[in-house]
Amino acid sequence: MGSVAERLSAELERPGLVLSEPAEVAAYTTDWTRQFSGAAPCVLRPRDTDEVARSVRACRKLGLALVPQGGNTGLVGGSVPRAGEVVLSLSRLNAIEAFDAASASIQVQAGVVLQALHEDLAARGHVFPVDLGARGSCQIGGMIATNAGGIKVLRYGHMREQVLGLEVVLADGTVLSNLNSLKKNNTGVDLKHVFIGSEGMLGIITRAVLQARPAPQAVQTALLALDTRHRLPELLTLLRERLRGLSSLEIITRDSIAFYKEQEPSARAPFDKPYPACVIVEEETGAGGNERDAFVERLSGVIEAGLAADAVIAGSDAQAQAIWRLRDGVTEAISRAGLTHKFDVTVPPGALPGFLDEMERLGDAAGDLRTLLFGHLGDGNVHVNMVQKPELAEQAFYAKGPALAESIYSHVAELNGSISAEHGIGIAKRAYLHHSRSAEEIDLMRGLKRLLDPDGMLNPGVLFKSD
Ligand SMILES: Cc1cc2nc3c(=O)[nH]c(=O)nc-3n(C[C@H](O)[C@H](O)[C@H](O)COP(=O)(O)OP(=O)(O)OC[C@H]3O[C@@H](n4cnc5c(N)ncnc54)[C@H](O)[C@@H]3O)c2cc1C
Repeated sequence: MGSVAERLSAELERPGLVLSEPAEVAAYTTDWTRQFSGAAPCVLRPRDTDEVARSVRACRKLGLALVPQGGNTGLVGGSVPRAGEVVLSLSRLNAIEAFDAASASIQVQAGVVLQALHEDLAARGHVFPVDLGARGSCQIGGMIATNAGGIKVLRYGHMREQVLGLEVVLADGTVLSNLNSLKKNNTGVDLKHVFIGSEGMLGIITRAVLQARPAPQAVQTALLALDTRHRLPELLTLLRERLRGLSSLEIITRDSIAFYKEQEPSARAPFDKPYPACVIVEEETGAGGNERDAFVERLSGVIEAGLAADAVIAGSDAQAQAIWRLRDGVTEAISRAGLTHKFDVTVPPGALPGFLDEMERLGDAAGDLRTLLFGHLGDGNVHVNMVQKPELAEQAFYAKGPALAESIYSHVAELNGSISAEHGIGIAKRAYLHHSRSAEEIDLMRGLKRLLDPDGMLNPGVLFKSD
């Protein structure tokens, strides 16, 4: 019979495609949160669409389930094996294939890392308008599979809004290719949307055509200090009214900044005193010399209205980067600190102040956790992080998870929010999907799964338990 790796190697007849050394395989079996991991008999590392299709057909023939893996930065446990599945890594499909200046579209393979795409487009005077903290590792295929959001959704939307065309390998090895680069193409059901956000359980994304944009002429950045979180909806309204090129609006609470300072004592505090929250504001503007002055003028209206107590306005790229460092630094500090219960949710803007208070109350009531809140304020998207205090044992930390999740997600549902703003459902949230989707919707999703993957071989257990 031979091992799974031996049988796959014999079936595929492609040297270098199957990785089976335990130490090498181990690098693919634990996720970024370190909370999800499992054993895999081997890792398949195809180099192009044809090899992906062959790999899928070989697994199907041998009755093996597959977990597609991109940069493995997903936060809901969907990118690593749970029950001995084979990992199919897209990392070697990393070519940026073609750029069309007339339509500002770019065709890439699924394994292209976001930062590489940013750098390639910058050299062409263009940008790809999705950006997130995992930019150095996350891949375009993984980002499409999770419909990733990030810090510019407010102006440009999620991945879904950037995808013009898609190539997908189906569970039977069929290559479904529609590398469309047209913006207008109303020719029946737009099938790419079935796969965007499907978390690897309906097909494997191998290539995409994406909409790039000309780089903005100038970007203005500021950090606002808020005396109170209770006027956030008013702040949002005023900023939307006054800053027509608003591209990012991020919130970080006082406790999150304090935590970052504890983890990184050399980091500079943004203001002389701690404020209940800070908000990063970024606006894309014209290039003229007085654009910064006009930006300052627009923000002064916010201070005059009593919606911000203080502000730091970047006068150079380095100062803008220092402001953004605060946001990335908080995320990194949390990931280094210890175990964290993570909840990525959206609530309507009007509900934000009460929601932030309620999250801190729930964290305190659970005990021995630090509740650290930050997120994409402009989208009502809050990242709720409940970090293990040193005195809390690992087992006791995990034991608190289900009750916290139930309280948070049912509260989110009462507010007509979403239990997953941008990270997806994966394994971590599948028991709570009913808080955001009706029974009829879940049935239809199951039906799609049965239609496209009747044997349940693609990412089994993601979104809902296998039939
Ligand atoms: C520091 C940090 C900051 C983050 N910030 C954000 C943020 O602001 N916004 C946001 O949306 N997310 C954020 N994330 C989450 C994560 O980066 C995104 O979900 C990202 O889109 C995952 O891409 P990946 O290539 O790492 O995918 P993986 O983690 O490898 O996979 C994610 C899911 O997609 C599937 N998949 C991967 N590749 C393919 C493919 N080619 N075809 C089919 N299925 C595939 C996997 O099976 C899995 O279910 C952050 C993560 C970190 C660590």
